[in-house]
Amino acid sequence: MKIIEPSAMLIDNINPAEILAKIERCGRVSHLSESKGKPEEFVRMLIKRGHESVLEHVSLTFHIICDRAIMAELTRHRLASPTVESTRFVKYKEIEVVNPFPNDPIAETFWRSIMKVTEKNYQLFIDGGVKPEDARSVLPLCLKSELYMTANLRELRYIIKLRTSKAAHPQMRFIAGQILNILRDKLPVIVEDIKEVESCSL
Ligand SMILES: Cc1cc2nc3c(=O)[nH]c(=O)nc-3n(C[C@H](O)[C@H](O)[C@H](O)COP(=O)(O)OP(=O)(O)OC[C@H]3O[C@@H](n4cnc5c(N)ncnc54)[C@H](O)[C@@H]3O)c2cc1C
Repeated sequence: MKIIEPSAMLIDNINPAEILAKIERCGRVSHLSESKGKPEEFVRMLIKRGHESVLEHVSLTFHIICDRAIMAELTRHRLASPTVESTRFVKYKEIEVVNPFPNDPIAETFWRSIMKVTEKNYQLFIDGGVKPEDARSVLPLCLKSELYMTANLRELRYIIKLRTSKAAHPQMRFIAGQILNILRDKLPVIVEDIKEVESCSL
């Protein structure tokens, strides 16, 4: 059994200046206006006025590692496109799991012993010739899940706002917080109106 840390990583090599210029170019068609050479100001104005559909012209792809439960929550976002590791087709030699109790040593000890039994049960099925798509029925929700998620900037803003809130699960808040930090670094104007979230470490 291997413990895996959740993470979110942008896989695109983006050129922030080109992205902002593209949004400005698309946005200016409404008034057929000329660029004043300050795309950032234009994008800021669009967001302030709630004219966010223009942000849909740019999409980004993230590589996300989380557990199956958080993957199921993330893939509820219908305007984002996910491609997910399949428990039907992957045959696990050793199960990889995300620790749900990083701050609770007693629960963690209990959970680790349950995971060892779970791993053994899965292996019993596989060794007995059961297909991974059926043997997976004993796998836990904390199983590591890997996915690529592509979403446009408007949907990313929506996901960040919803999933960094205190109402969200800590692991989800951690993933959404990482996406927010990446955007703060690469495209700050896109998320500068989103209030600083209380950091959610695992
Ligand atoms: C704290 C929390 C608890 C939750 N608990 C549960 C739960 O117990 N059970 C459960 O089933 N789900 C639960 N969810 C998931 C939630 O119901 C949504 O499925 C999920 O957050 C995706 O968001 P969304 O549907 O608003 O937006 P997305 O699918 O990301 O779409 C973005 C936006 O596009 C628009 N849109 C998309 N599709 C349509 C449509 N068909 N019609 C009209 N407008 C549309 C909406 O404005 C929507 O907000 C929970 C979510 C959170 C954040």
